[in-house]
Amino acid sequence: MTTLASLGFDDFFASQLERLGIPGWLPARVVAEGQSSFHLAGARAPLGDLTGKLLGSLSKVERPVVGDWVAVIDGPDRASIQHVLERRTTLLRRAAGTLDEAQVIAVNVDVFFVVTAVNREFNERRLERFATAVWNSGAEPVIVLNKVDLDADLAPLLEAIDRAASGVPVVRASAASGEGIEALRTYIGPGKTVAFIGSSGVGKSSLMNRLLGREAQAVGALRNDERGRHTTSGRQLIELPSGGVLVDTPGLRELGLVDDIGGVETSFADVAAFAETCRFRDCVHESEPGCAVLAAVASGKLPAERLASYRKLLKEIAAAERKRDPILAGRTKARWKEIHKAMRARTKVDPKLKR
Ligand code: GDP
Ligand code: ZN
Repeated sequence: MTTLASLGFDDFFASQLERLGIPGWLPARVVAEGQSSFHLAGARAPLGDLTGKLLGSLSKVERPVVGDWVAVIDGPDRASIQHVLERRTTLLRRAAGTLDEAQVIAVNVDVFFVVTAVNREFNERRLERFATAVWNSGAEPVIVLNKVDLDADLAPLLEAIDRAASGVPVVRASAASGEGIEALRTYIGPGKTVAFIGSSGVGKSSLMNRLLGREAQAVGALRNDERGRHTTSGRQLIELPSGGVLVDTPGLRELGLVDDIGGVETSFADVAAFAETCRFRDCVHESEPGCAVLAAVASGKLPAERLASYRKLLKEIAAAERKRDPILAGRTKARWKEIHKAMRARTKVDPKLKR
């Protein structure tokens, strides 16, 4: 039976509701996002709408998403969403090389399974970026080394995992044979919210199917979803048969295709440290005046190869972005042009901007 507790409602959220102290406000969890309404669990009404006041006051990142707990005035068919409770964890993605504001990928996830595979999908840097993003979200990462049924030497991979995410628990798994699935369950207690992240092809869908007890052949259908339109069929927050809640949203799936979560700064801490003192906050370290990164390369403080590989990564990410969303990519380019123009104008007329 679904209860508030089995959906993940605990003291952290209950105490917030208590502090609000408004009789008639009840908790509900967002399980899917519709066009204008939200699909809810835990309330009597299956659907909820934001009040006009919330619609007008919430910023893009504050708007409820799958996993959020909200306070509602319940009804038989529709609930009225009065308040979004503070999130325990927030996985944000900062699209690198663009000026887009951070995008909320997942909220109130307790444990992220960061999946990698023993075959060609294994990539230490990517693993590091995903693990770092999970740490930053406030959630707990668990690394899953999948496809161990394939013939592979695990020792060097486990060493690489330790370098990329030292101290993080590692589960060796195979969605094909079922190995490690019980070990995954030990991180999924009743009321715990979990999600999978990792590159496309590492076996996230297959592992989720194992946990859900779904037919393995459903993977093919799920892969089609990844490619294009997403099925709008129901919940993206699903109760697992053995307890716990699984978040599986289009946003999380897309992350695997883009392979980036704004972690460029984490693998390029040296470049980022110099970039902090660039004259312009949006400096892309190409030819901007007052660029501290270019200055560091010129003076030999930063090896030129580091800047080169930093640029290469940015380019890869931008290419993935374009593939994912051509319209957005076009806009981004146009915006950069504008900014560069404005920058040139400013440096000419405003002496205060000069160091
Ligand atoms: P996703 O993109 O991360 O969701 O990956 P999928 O679950 O769609 O799996 C990608 C491919 O890897 C599919 O062809 C799966 O059948 C295969 N695969 C997934 N898990 C395993 C595994 O444990 N062992 C082997 N050998 N293949 C797997
Ligand atoms: Zn710079």
